[in-house]
Amino acid sequence: MKLVPEIVARQAELTRIRHDIHAHPELAYQEKRTSALVAERLKAWGIEVHEGLGGTGLVGVIRNGNSPRMIALRADMDALPIEEANSFAHRSQHAGCMHACGHDGHTTMLLGAAEYLASHRDFDGTVVLVFQPAEEGQGGAAAMIADGFFERFPVQSIYGMHNWPGMPAGHFGIAPGAVMASADRFDIQITGRGAHAAMPHQGTDTVLAGCQLVSSLQMIAARTVDPLDAAVVSVTQFHAGDAYNVMPERAALAGTVRALGPQTRDFVLASVQRVCDGIAAAYGVGIELSWKGGYYPATINTLPEAQVCREVAEAVAGQGKVEWAPLPSMGAEDFSFFLQHRPGCYVWLGNGPTEGGCLLHNPSYDFNDDALVVGASYWVRLAEALLKKA
Ligand SMILES: [Zn+2]
Ligand SMILES: [Zn+2]
Repeated sequence: MKLVPEIVARQAELTRIRHDIHAHPELAYQEKRTSALVAERLKAWGIEVHEGLGGTGLVGVIRNGNSPRMIALRADMDALPIEEANSFAHRSQHAGCMHACGHDGHTTMLLGAAEYLASHRDFDGTVVLVFQPAEEGQGGAAAMIADGFFERFPVQSIYGMHNWPGMPAGHFGIAPGAVMASADRFDIQITGRGAHAAMPHQGTDTVLAGCQLVSSLQMIAARTVDPLDAAVVSVTQFHAGDAYNVMPERAALAGTVRALGPQTRDFVLASVQRVCDGIAAAYGVGIELSWKGGYYPATINTLPEAQVCREVAEAVAGQGKVEWAPLPSMGAEDFSFFLQHRPGCYVWLGNGPTEGGCLLHNPSYDFNDDALVVGASYWVRLAEALLKKA
């Protein structure tokens, strides 16, 4: 391992910052304390700070030399509405809220890199540090873009990193192409004619139509999407009726669609509509499908940028510690919005063993402090590689 020695020397301080953020988690768009803590640190290190992008988001800018090259490194800051089950000293002090996805670690690693980059400036160009709010389902990345992120900071490429439980601490997982799926949410309303349960022929059965719909939607991923591609259609809610002897007039279903590419996504979304229309016709009921806002695109890394990330990660972590082409996850990530505008790469950083429930979004999760210096060193060497001095 070739970590940045000055960052390794700051390990205790980075751990202290991480524990402080962990103890004070804040939900999407409420990251006021976290955002203020980041701004205060960046300013203390002489870094130009732009606050209030996408609500509680903020951006730090470090310039050096004359090169017009400009790159962005991104961390997310929000926590989750989960009651923490851990009992260690830095456990959440806010009831019903915890850093169960490691965004406390992500924020700290980017801070560690910022301090080093600002004090050494061994690069030619501009490093844009993105501290993003609301990654967890609320699209904070899209909010920053809507606030003019790319106009104000016209970076040529952008990079993200997420901790990955189950991968050894200090290892990286990097791949070109789709690494996280798109996520869409749907609601389905079925309306029929209510009737006595003993005389079903007098009505139209919304429950039966709903059951057929749940089964038939499974056909989309199982029989119409290329088995070597990937898509998921999950029905997660089914509400109907409240009596033993009444065929209800209404049934309501809801669920989510995941896909690894935009074409597959378009195909699956159209297929859900087609299945709804077909079941409606076959069962003589009305079926109304609606897509909820808050869709996340698939996270798709570009090859040249992924290759640079791989070289840097191998230099930092050492040979054999960088997995090239790990299996993509059907989870979703709003870093994808940045990648719709610019080339870039989102990598996974090992968080170590999952024993004791150390899994993303689990109440027993905690970010692995051993990974802090690895991730911060990676950010530094990546910026220096992309903005190499002539
Ligand atoms: Zn998460
Ligand atoms: Zn996360």
